[in-house]
Amino acid sequence: MGNVIDGKGFADRLSEQLRVEVDALKANHNLTPCIAVVLVGDDPASHVYVTNKVKRCQQLGIESREHRLPVDTSAEALLALIDNLNHDAGVHGILVQLPLPKHLDENAVINTIVPEKDVDGFTLLNTGALAVGQSRLVPCTPLGSLMLLKDQLGDLSGLNAVVVGRSNIVGKPMASLLLQENCTVTIAHSRTRDLPAVCRQADILVAAVGRPRFIQGDWIKPGATVIDVGINRIEEEGRKRLVGDVDFASAIEVAGAITPVPGGVGPMTIACLMYNTVAAAKAAHGITD
Ligand code: NDP
Repeated sequence: MGNVIDGKGFADRLSEQLRVEVDALKANHNLTPCIAVVLVGDDPASHVYVTNKVKRCQQLGIESREHRLPVDTSAEALLALIDNLNHDAGVHGILVQLPLPKHLDENAVINTIVPEKDVDGFTLLNTGALAVGQSRLVPCTPLGSLMLLKDQLGDLSGLNAVVVGRSNIVGKPMASLLLQENCTVTIAHSRTRDLPAVCRQADILVAAVGRPRFIQGDWIKPGATVIDVGINRIEEEGRKRLVGDVDFASAIEVAGAITPVPGGVGPMTIACLMYNTVAAAKAAHGITD
């Protein structure tokens, strides 16, 4: 029976460290890290995410500025707002909550953010920087997943890592980070042949598929470390539940360690957003300690 990796506990400890660091930045440098959060439209899940992010900022002493815009906001108005935030020296991080309404071009909007304030790490420049091993602001979910892996395993050098999923926000940056850690990395996706056999090679298996309980226990190498990024809302026996992309019940019988859903990668994502915001604020002021 494998260990359950306590992502929530790790995220709470990281948040506490950041709270202390934010206090010190205020006291020693008169600097309050600040993130601007931009939300367009009325998607209920997005409003919940933004509210949670703002709440977490308050807990850590990070300033947050909310821009909740109507669903019919024009591209010109949104780009003008981002341009203002880019030039506002009091704002260190800019987050545009995705998805955007269909009439807005997500790539164009994201790439308007200056890379120094791109705390989601989604701009082309930060994506490229990560790919060539010069990363600064790294996407939060893969960054949080890597922190959990290093906490669990220490040195990852030489381990076989399989990432199932090749999205720009999770799978690809996760693979880049693992490669930087000297893992031997395989990226699997919907066209991969014999996925169970590919997964069985993995010392580290990262599931970012978006399919409830897709990866089965008998696809897992005994003793492997499993990071379940998936967040799937399902209804089961009349109850709404959150489940991952891994079938937790069968996987924990085989894995050495596994993240639960909820309470695994999810809390790390928001903690890493705070981490990136503090890093961006420090970088803007040339603070290196
Ligand atoms: P995407 O839908 O963008 O990507 C899913 C990936 O899974 C694609 O690369 C797709 O392959 C692959 N895939 C789909 N079906 C199969 C299959 N049958 N076999 C193998 N691969 C398959 O999802 P995201 O990367 O955005 O998210 C993945 C999961 O992570 C979701 O559950 C999402 O909710 C969750 N998530 C969680 C976060 C957190 O904070 N914990 C943050 C972000 C996401 P192909 O490219 O070939 O289509």
